[in-house]
Amino acid sequence: MIQRKPEWLKINLVSGEQLANFKELKQTMRSNTLHTVCEEAKCPNIHECWANRTATFMILGDICTRACRFCAVKTGLPTELDLAEPERVAEAAEHMGLKHVVVTSVARDDLADGGAAIFAETIRAIRRRLPLATVEVLIPDFQGNWDALQVVMEARPDVLNHNIEAVRRLSDRVRARAKYERTLELLKRAKEMAPAIPTKSSLMIGVGETIDEILETMDDLRAVDVNIMTIGQYLQPTKKHLQVEKYYHPDEFKQLQEEGMKRGFSHVEAGPLVRSSYHAHEQANAAKAQ
Ligand code: SF4
Ligand code: SF4
Repeated sequence: MIQRKPEWLKINLVSGEQLANFKELKQTMRSNTLHTVCEEAKCPNIHECWANRTATFMILGDICTRACRFCAVKTGLPTELDLAEPERVAEAAEHMGLKHVVVTSVARDDLADGGAAIFAETIRAIRRRLPLATVEVLIPDFQGNWDALQVVMEARPDVLNHNIEAVRRLSDRVRARAKYERTLELLKRAKEMAPAIPTKSSLMIGVGETIDEILETMDDLRAVDVNIMTIGQYLQPTKKHLQVEKYYHPDEFKQLQEEGMKRGFSHVEAGPLVRSSYHAHEQANAAKAQ
């Protein structure tokens, strides 16, 4: 039987000026018809991040062509491609005065390029409006279409992020349409295409992996020269999703963070509520300083 959600996963709600920031950001997203992964994936950090004016834009719509067993994003067949979306994302980022902009998307397996051209245009639109901001993209695997990857790399994001999500043994069970090896290959090719751009990947734990398997995943990511790794606790978004097998203690996350740093990552963010874009700005700075 699974244990009850532990104390350290309790979320603090915000008040006062921080609550006002949270509400303003919500209004900005709605008035620009934009989506965020913060809301769609039911991220536990939404109050903290939004209060601090940090958000992760989710482009290419809010319907994903995949249905990973841990993810709360809606699944189905998207019907449209919104060519004006890059400009609206850039406008919202400018309005929010962001210094570090994180952009991700649903998987658009229905599009020949998986949405790579829209990612590239979004990077360029943000650069035009916010030339001093850094831009991080968290991309899908484009089903192994490396020309699509090249299109994104040529737009020169400051950080290229692609998540491994689960250890090798559990990968097919957790995200059936993705492949552990394809994720590693994408990260390897991204580094070959643009060696100066830091790469990043995130692992979610608590779905039945062992510590040795987590360490093996770290080694696999370092073998393709990934610079930044994040590790967070899986939380079941609804009863239909995968069950939590284990709640890791904050001290265990601390040990994993140390193991990661020993292996040569420039930054490892590990903690119960850590998500791919949690403290993303600080992670990007650490990678740049290396
Ligand atoms: Fe959004 Fe990322 Fe913060 Fe979660 S951690 S609220 S996804 S910016
Ligand atoms: Fe969620 Fe991404 Fe999987 Fe789609 S591909 S279901 S957005 S994790």
